[in-house]
Amino acid sequence: MKILFITTSRLLVSFSLIGFSTLCHSAVASTDTEKDIRLVLQITVDGLRADLLNRYRAEFGKGGFNYLLNNGSVFTNAHYQHANTETIVGHTTLATGTYPSQHGMVGNVIYDRKAGELSYNIEDADAPLLPSREQSSAGEQVDPSQKLSRTKGRSPRAIQVPTFSDGLAAYNAGRSKIFGVSGKDRSAVAMTGHAGKAFWYSTDNGDFITSRYYYDEYPAWVGDWNGQRKAEKYAGKQWKLSSEKPSYLLAGQDDRPYEVDLKGYGRTFPHQYGSADNKLLYTQLLVSPVGDQLLLDFSKALISNEKLGQGSAPDYLSISFSSVDATNHFFGPSSLENEAVVRDLDTTLAELFSFVDKQVGLDHTLIVFSADHGMADMPEYMTELGFAAGRLDAKDIIAAANEAGKQLGIDEVVRYFFRPYVYLDKEKITAANLDYRQVEKAIADALTDFEGVNLAVSTKNFSRYKGNPLLKQVKRNQHTTRSGDIYVIQDPYWFLLEEGLIAVMHGSPWRYDTHVPIIFAGPDITPRKIQRLVHPVDVAPTITTYLGISPPASAQGSPLTEVFE
Ligand SMILES: [Zn+2]
Repeated sequence: MKILFITTSRLLVSFSLIGFSTLCHSAVASTDTEKDIRLVLQITVDGLRADLLNRYRAEFGKGGFNYLLNNGSVFTNAHYQHANTETIVGHTTLATGTYPSQHGMVGNVIYDRKAGELSYNIEDADAPLLPSREQSSAGEQVDPSQKLSRTKGRSPRAIQVPTFSDGLAAYNAGRSKIFGVSGKDRSAVAMTGHAGKAFWYSTDNGDFITSRYYYDEYPAWVGDWNGQRKAEKYAGKQWKLSSEKPSYLLAGQDDRPYEVDLKGYGRTFPHQYGSADNKLLYTQLLVSPVGDQLLLDFSKALISNEKLGQGSAPDYLSISFSSVDATNHFFGPSSLENEAVVRDLDTTLAELFSFVDKQVGLDHTLIVFSADHGMADMPEYMTELGFAAGRLDAKDIIAAANEAGKQLGIDEVVRYFFRPYVYLDKEKITAANLDYRQVEKAIADALTDFEGVNLAVSTKNFSRYKGNPLLKQVKRNQHTTRSGDIYVIQDPYWFLLEEGLIAVMHGSPWRYDTHVPIIFAGPDITPRKIQRLVHPVDVAPTITTYLGISPPASAQGSPLTEVFE
């Protein structure tokens, strides 16, 4: 009886969304079958600030970015609305259609309240990695958030609400195949949701790996792909420009003193990949077009072997490209390296679209394109141009906060600082018999006075900041158990991160970090450019409306109606 009730209500939902015409289809019609969508291909480019597509437009070929820009509904003013514009936060927002306050992924690092420790966003000791080869030495980890991970296990369990792909899996009763792949574990896992299967690139050995959350053993085709050791073949080779140097707009921006040499990788072209036993080789490949090319190659194998787009219901594939972001972090978004990696991604996308056209048909494919965050230009570059910016040292922030605590009689009141949050030692505050809110306020005020800090928000005391335009963004980032006590916002273009290895960071609420492209291309979508302000929370509800299914359970965004006009 219960099952019957669910089925009926589901049908009612779909009828009300897609109209009477669908009634004419048979009862097994899975989605809005008039469009005959067989594949939803969601492409996310990590760190692709929206304006970069304009800067390099003249260099793009026909079939990559230009396929999307010429055939899609292109939203030119899409901005994230949360404050902490980081990878896991943006991807999960795209996947769920809601804010970090609700989906729970408030940062690449989140607070584990039970353990009283910081943790890596998707770590899960109950979902160990599935080894892809008998023996492999570990690569050197350069990602500061990954360094905090207490286990190698990975799963989506920390994502507290369903994703679009979870809804698709439920709606089609298991007939939709759902996959997510990426150069980064968190980007693959977030988009894939709880019901799908995720694979990601390993900086240990260049394989595409997964965890026991998804599989007990590797599908044979993944074993075959990894067995070919495609990444290792780049050992000892070089990243060279794919076209003549003068053809690049930023040819003069190759060697700048504030770019970072990744331990022998160099600041200028050609960049030298390490030897096979170099612990940074597989990271260097990600900091080059090769990371995206390997991901394309693996995605093609996935589409063929898993027969995506060939079943009785639409399948879902998320591909999140990581090399633009990785390259940005070492050379900045206004470097020759950035231009080179985006230009080569254009070729990679053209190859992907042509492959999907042959396998599935672009006339049966909905392509959804966006990014997880933008990127800041380097403080030194901005200073050269006349806008003074600098680098904040996490140690100084901690010292300033501790000094404010000392004035109140508490020694070392800061438990942790991992941007953007300061976490206070509650036991010390209680032991000192002090009012918690008063301590938080004193420290927040001291940090706000710090050079390079725009605002430090005491998160138990939001009403104090009423009227500050940044408050809304901080609030959308605030999760009851996972966020910290004080949210630190740097001044525009100021750098704020704990580790000194990278040259530039995103993560601020400023517009260069929130601005991303949103493009929908597929059957019945009219090519057009839309300039109104829209938000990435609108993406998931737009996909579900296009398919005629209900939005993800917690979605706060609205369908982008221009896609249907
Ligand atoms: Zn990044």
